[in-house]
Amino acid sequence: MTLNENQNNGIPETHPRYQSLKFRHKIIDGMKKLVVAEAGLIAHGRGECFDYILGEKTTKTARYAIRAAVAALLLAKKPVISVNGNVAALVPNELVTLSKLLNIPLEINLFYHKEGRIKAITDVLTKAGATDIKGINEDKMVELEGLESNRRKVELIAKADIVMVPLEDGDRTEALKKLNKKVIAVDLNPLSRTALWADITIVDNIVRVIPEMIEISKELKKLNKAELNYILEKFDNKLNIQKTLDLIIDYIKEQKKIAFNIQKK
Ligand code: ATP
Repeated sequence: MTLNENQNNGIPETHPRYQSLKFRHKIIDGMKKLVVAEAGLIAHGRGECFDYILGEKTTKTARYAIRAAVAALLLAKKPVISVNGNVAALVPNELVTLSKLLNIPLEINLFYHKEGRIKAITDVLTKAGATDIKGINEDKMVELEGLESNRRKVELIAKADIVMVPLEDGDRTEALKKLNKKVIAVDLNPLSRTALWADITIVDNIVRVIPEMIEISKELKKLNKAELNYILEKFDNKLNIQKTLDLIIDYIKEQKKIAFNIQKK
């Protein structure tokens, strides 16, 4: 372990923004190791901004969406979890645990291709315990219709009935929907095209979502199909996004009062 890692990049654990800074440094380290694309840093910043106005916590609406997502994944015939650089840098161990717990393959799918990136991400996932990573063998890939970006090249995703897409770009979500796939999105921005196009939208930070999904999976694995279907039928994504936006409005109003009181002193 280097001195830097040992000292959490010099960030004391008592720092009020310790968690946020810790994950920021995971993204920076990920970029140095080619796991994260340069643009991934900016995407992370956009996520942080939305996390701030959600109170940096898993909201009630995020929890509903997580339950529905786990129920849907347990009911699916051919589910796949899509992995990009940021997700691999932030929560590799948790992602592999979830994949094994639900028996769902992980498929690497990148917007930005660069020599050595697939290998760097494969190494991170392998180190975390993954044994069968998809999306690394060009010979097994097919191209998704209606998509121009690198993300069009897929393996199991082509035949999947449900695809979980953490930190996705809107184009691919739209393309997956046009191919009649159910999409589970994890996106801190409730107004992104991905969030609005998905069937189940989890508006929360991936670093909290995956551990929560692991816990909910342990619980829901004990349910039968009818019980899982019930959870899914009761979930209304449109309403849930509206309620998430209301939570943001409430949070801002609360912060407005706090800001007023601090400035008054
Ligand atoms: P869209 O194309 O769907 O409108 P976009 O152009 O913003 O969205 P990207 O630039 O690919 O898409 O950004 C990825 C998304 O991931 C952003 O909406 C950002 O809020 C979100 N995001 C970034 N970091 C996290 C994180 N740690 N957890 C959850 N979401 C995140």
